[in-house]
Amino acid sequence: MALRRPMVAGNWKMNGSAELAQDLFSKFARKIKDDSAEVVLCPPVIYLESVKRLMEENKEALSGSLVRMGAQNLSQHQFGAYTGEVSGQMLADAGCRYVIIGHSERRRMYGETSDIVADKFAAAQRHGLTPILCVGESGPAREARRTFEVIAEELDVVIEKNGTMAFDNAIIAYEPLWAVGTGKSATPEQAQEVHAFIRKRLSEVSPYIGENIRILYGGSVTPANAADIFAQPDVDGGLIGGASLNSAEFLTLCSIAMSA
Ligand code: PEP
Repeated sequence: MALRRPMVAGNWKMNGSAELAQDLFSKFARKIKDDSAEVVLCPPVIYLESVKRLMEENKEALSGSLVRMGAQNLSQHQFGAYTGEVSGQMLADAGCRYVIIGHSERRRMYGETSDIVADKFAAAQRHGLTPILCVGESGPAREARRTFEVIAEELDVVIEKNGTMAFDNAIIAYEPLWAVGTGKSATPEQAQEVHAFIRKRLSEVSPYIGENIRILYGGSVTPANAADIFAQPDVDGGLIGGASLNSAEFLTLCSIAMSA
């Protein structure tokens, strides 16, 4: 039986401030003394430096925990005339270990196709970053019973371009579009069903990857529903949007993951 360390990743989206980072750290430094779950903070790129500095300043207080930094997006290109974009190398230089890839907001609002997402996945790994690959179906797709088809398509493009073994250094986040930012979370059973499907699909090509990959659930996770979702056998923690902006709620989610 694989030992998968749970993870709680906070996606601030285009929210937050240097003050939020400060507030979060004054609470982290005092409260998180546990490495049984990994905690990843994904602030807007402009605050990566502040978060990195706070991590260094609180190094001693955080020594028993696993707090890391991640970005919310990266360019699929290495460098060049791509105004406004940030490369994998730049994120690695800034101290990121993780990067969210293919978030539904980027797929939907910025035209990121599965092909682009697969290229971003490769770009992240090229620079030593671990991609957190988001997949998920829309509400109409779920109603039409196309959930597995959509997830399989999103996964398969990345597998075809990068190979299954690339998932040895990756995290998957199942984020149903109808649950992200809506206040309507998937039920623990719905999450478990899709997580088991993802694990099985990867196991078919590599039992090792299927067994060991961490699959996070994301979509309106709160302290009220996290324990039941995180307790599911194929759920390895959460990707948290709204609740990551409230230090107390985020800390509670971290504690829940640590005891899951
Ligand atoms: C997200 O943005 O990845 C997310 C899961 O958001 P929320 O928790 O607010 O639904």
